[in-house]
Amino acid sequence: MKIKYVFVLSVLALMVSGVDIGRAAENPPRIVVSIQPLKALIDQVITGVGEAENLINPGVSPHDQRLKPSDMRRMVSADIVFWVGPELEQTWQKPLGNLKDKVRVVQVMKIQGLHKKYVRKAGIWDGSGSTGKAAYDPHVWLDPENAKTIIRAIARALGKTDPERIEIYRKNADQAVKAIGEMDAEIKNILAPVRNIPFAVYHDAGQYFETAYGLDNVGTITDAFENRIGTAGMTRFMGTLKTRNIACMLYEPGPVPQLLQTIQQSGITMQIRAFDVIGSEVKPGIGFYEKMMTGLARTVRACLSPKQ
Ligand SMILES: [Zn+2]
Repeated sequence: MKIKYVFVLSVLALMVSGVDIGRAAENPPRIVVSIQPLKALIDQVITGVGEAENLINPGVSPHDQRLKPSDMRRMVSADIVFWVGPELEQTWQKPLGNLKDKVRVVQVMKIQGLHKKYVRKAGIWDGSGSTGKAAYDPHVWLDPENAKTIIRAIARALGKTDPERIEIYRKNADQAVKAIGEMDAEIKNILAPVRNIPFAVYHDAGQYFETAYGLDNVGTITDAFENRIGTAGMTRFMGTLKTRNIACMLYEPGPVPQLLQTIQQSGITMQIRAFDVIGSEVKPGIGFYEKMMTGLARTVRACLSPKQ
């Protein structure tokens, strides 16, 4: 009697799970995300199930992206929306606030265990006193430990929305974390010969990368929110470039800022290289995050190596 009862239950369980798997396979969770590096981390976790849709195209700065009505429609019909936070996608805060009860929203800046750093004031830094403590620098994905923390949070969020595939998400997350560990070792090798050579940065997007890899950035012209230093600050900046023999300046991809051209014309000889923190020049697809990060390391190394 008891055996028969167990048998009936198992058959029922098989039927139920079979039905559920069938339905879920037709219906992968709809994921909407802001920037490409975050999409890449999500895609690693959702491999074999689906793909996230990014609303900020490569080449558009997330600091000043505007949401179109079509973007809003994609947000409303999503199961989960991932974004960094109001510090980065400033225009997303209001629409996401209205959406909160209908869609699961994951704000990366609020993920537990994430390493967060304060925005640094633009200008030349000399040791202490460089952080404003007014707000957090949102370029958090450039710290490989943060990428791992974000991957775990993605797996948790996907598991809540789509519990039938929780094991797939967990396994994919394990693999993604492993891949980042390997990437981390590779980047350390790439940067080893140039670690203590000072350089300067136009837009302060690289704080997390610099700290993770012990790089020596002496200062920036615009802060993490793109506020520019004043005239006095600029004079001091130029002075430091000369006295410390700064031979490398990083800026964001796109046209070389006018100010950098002016600096070069003033007789300061520096290498100027694009530091592509959102991977705008990296081909989307498998390994995007790792390619973007090792690309950043190669850029720094080339910029700090004597010109051939
Ligand atoms: Zn930025």
